[in-house]
Amino acid sequence: MSAVPVDHGAPLEAYGREVAGCARCRLSQGRTQVVFGAGNPHADLMFVGEAPGFHEDKQGLPFVGQAGKLLEKLLAGIGLQRSDVYIANVLKCRPPGNRDPQPDEIEACESHLFRQIDLIEPTVIATLGNFATKLLSGRPLGITRVHGQEQSTTLAGRRLLLYPLYHPAAALYTPAMLKVLESDFARIPELIGSAIPELAPDPAPELTLVATPTLPAEQLGLF
Ligand code: SF4
Repeated sequence: MSAVPVDHGAPLEAYGREVAGCARCRLSQGRTQVVFGAGNPHADLMFVGEAPGFHEDKQGLPFVGQAGKLLEKLLAGIGLQRSDVYIANVLKCRPPGNRDPQPDEIEACESHLFRQIDLIEPTVIATLGNFATKLLSGRPLGITRVHGQEQSTTLAGRRLLLYPLYHPAAALYTPAMLKVLESDFARIPELIGSAIPELAPDPAPELTLVATPTLPAEQLGLF
C-alpha cells in the first residue's frame, strides 16, 4: 500500500491566517501587517532571520530589501531559488525603527516560529544572525563564534541540523563578512544531503515548542 503524502501547505497557510491577527506583544500596535513567512511549505531548507524591516512590513514578505536580494544571490549560487526554501523571522512584526527585538517580544512570538518548524519539517535550518541562532540553539554563543558550524539538535520534536550564518544585512556592508557568508553558504547542499538519524543521541539540550529559554537582551546583539 502506498503512503498518502502529507500536505503541509494547507495547515501552514491556515496558521498564517491565524497569526495575522496576533496581538500578543506591543509590536502589533506599530506594524502595517504581520510578516508570517514565505516559500515552500515542504522545504528541506528553512531560513530564520531576525525581524521584518521597513520593506517587509509594507509588503508582508520576509527579506524583500537589499538583504533579501543578497539572500537570493547566495541561493542562486547553490542552485536554489526563494521558492525552493522557506524564509521566516524570529519576530513576525517590525520593531519600531528596526531596533533590536526585546526578550519579551521574542518570548511572545517564539511559539509561532516553532509551529512553523513543526509544520514545515525542514532538514536544515539556517539561522541568520545572532537572534535566531541563540533562540534556536538555546546557547548564548554569538554568531562570530558559531557561524558555519552545523549542530544536530531537536526542534519541534524533530531531529534536524541547525546551521548558523551571518545575517545578510550585516554582510551587505562588510566585504570580509560577505566572503565568510558565501563560503558558509557553499556547504548548504552537502548539509541538506546528509542524513540525520531520527533516534541518534542528542548532545544538545532538547528544545520543545514552549520551553525554549529566552536570552537576556545583551546576549542577543547582531554580532
Ligand atoms: S511580534 Fe509576534 S507575538 Fe508580537 S504581535 Fe507580532 S506576531 Fe504577535
